[in-house]
Amino acid sequence: MQNAVRLTEPTPIYSSSNDHWDPIISLREHGRHVLTSVEMTMSNLCNMRCEHCAVGDTLVMSEPAKLPLDQMLRRLDEVEHLKTISITGGEPTFSSRTVKEYIIPLLKYARSRGLSSQINSNITLDYSRYEEIAPYLDVMHISFNYTNSDDFHEIGFAKSGHPVPKETAARMYERMIDNARRLSDGGLFVSAESMINYRTYNKMPEIHKLILEMGCKRHEVHPMYPSAFAADLPVITPAQMRDAVNDLLDSRDPSVWMLFGTLPFYYCNEDAEDRKLLQRLASERLVTVRNDPDGRNRLNVNLFTGDVFVTDFSDVPAFGNIGTDKLDELFGRWLAHPLARSVDCHCPAAACCGPNLLVKDMYYRDVDFGTRQAML
Ligand code: SF4
Repeated sequence: MQNAVRLTEPTPIYSSSNDHWDPIISLREHGRHVLTSVEMTMSNLCNMRCEHCAVGDTLVMSEPAKLPLDQMLRRLDEVEHLKTISITGGEPTFSSRTVKEYIIPLLKYARSRGLSSQINSNITLDYSRYEEIAPYLDVMHISFNYTNSDDFHEIGFAKSGHPVPKETAARMYERMIDNARRLSDGGLFVSAESMINYRTYNKMPEIHKLILEMGCKRHEVHPMYPSAFAADLPVITPAQMRDAVNDLLDSRDPSVWMLFGTLPFYYCNEDAEDRKLLQRLASERLVTVRNDPDGRNRLNVNLFTGDVFVTDFSDVPAFGNIGTDKLDELFGRWLAHPLARSVDCHCPAAACCGPNLLVKDMYYRDVDFGTRQAML
């Protein structure tokens, strides 16, 4: 590993007590859900084919032209309460042209408007690509579900359609770890996300340790739900999920921020074990539970078509296009949609504003959340 070079000043505005992506903050501030976050799908190219990839069925070998950046910026300008932008893919940095012509100008726009920014990347490409972005970026979000390069090989190329040699995967794994360390040492906020699934649920403490060794400032944990591309993967039970979270809390480093999201447990659940876990999470130092942003304070824009979605991986079809519609108006239209209404509940005392759509579909299909109340 090379010596650390200061890439960016650590962002002072972003901390566990001020998570700009959590919709509960804007809900408290405005008394209703407002659009504060826009995610842009910037690439359908990727050098990996992960088993769990939420957008795996959209990945291609070559992709069409994107909409002019100016068109996107004009639509962002109109969003009255915008606080954050997120850039996602594929691997958004796969093409260096996209980095120069779209990603860096967008990040500079965010800085000039005082917005927080995030990129979702696998950081397995050459370090120089990330070094270019780092001075303008607030959160580099990576996936990390591995205990060694063999896990990375099995998971990261499960859907590649042709055999990828172990040695190739091992080199990429080392580069990813080296890049994460260098970016962290240079002052960038690297947040590593692990998914609780059939492979990882009994390995979370080991994964956590490796994430800390890379110098990440945050460990983000989400259960994995079967989206279209990953629909055939085995599902673990809620009890196994609870055990995985408890194991992690028992073994974690309490000086590092842990963010849990899209958990399938709510304070209105009859099962006392669910509520006990939520109480434990609420009482732990530097542990936060983020409400689901998708469709609550965030929309997704596909930069190739201009189509607007509730998330980049849901089966819900596009409900507008930035070619003809303002994002705030589309957000209002989404809130009136029966699907949005089906998860639109709010229990202020529990700091909860309802389940994620995939979670509702998987575990609570017949539940009317509008009739439930948190039991505290
Ligand atoms: S906001 Fe909805 S999901 Fe959360 S505790 Fe209340 S009723 Fe349950």
